[in-house]
Amino acid sequence: MSKMYEVEASCSRCSSRFKASLFKSIWGEHEENRALVFGDQINVLQCPLCGTRTRAPASLMYVDLKRGFVVWYEPTPDPMIDAELPQYAAMFGPESCYVTAPRIADWQHFKATIERFERGELRAKPPSVENSRAAMQSLLKSLPKQKQGCLLVVALAGTLVGTLGFVAARLLLRG
Ligand SMILES: [Zn+2]
Repeated sequence: MSKMYEVEASCSRCSSRFKASLFKSIWGEHEENRALVFGDQINVLQCPLCGTRTRAPASLMYVDLKRGFVVWYEPTPDPMIDAELPQYAAMFGPESCYVTAPRIADWQHFKATIERFERGELRAKPPSVENSRAAMQSLLKSLPKQKQGCLLVVALAGTLVGTLGFVAARLLLRG
């Protein structure tokens, strides 16, 4: 499942402020999602007042589990990715595509990297089913104990549960 969040943006031209929805992750194995990326239509902010369009300087995780790879678009260094990596290692295995995913700062290079995975020039290791099952159970068990003091942890766990639940469901269905 692709994941979205809301931001408040301000126009670089007329400075008007507006709300926008951005993708945090996108499941590229679905053709309509892939088209959003390759048509440069994803995470583009359009000012409702003057129409100026700019790409949001926001990280985006591109996931294609059918072909078994993950690529990050990371226009500026994003500590959230660093924070999530150990969790991904625990859940999907330390050598899985979630952990080894390239982190690409340039948009064109990001798309070219996806294409190299699609052509088989780059390869990655699919998530480990055993890791996912065990980690999902321990993560779910740990959730009710968390205090509301640490919003970051709760938000992070929310993201991970969403991602992991979907991945685990797919892996289990696949057998
Ligand atoms: Zn504007």
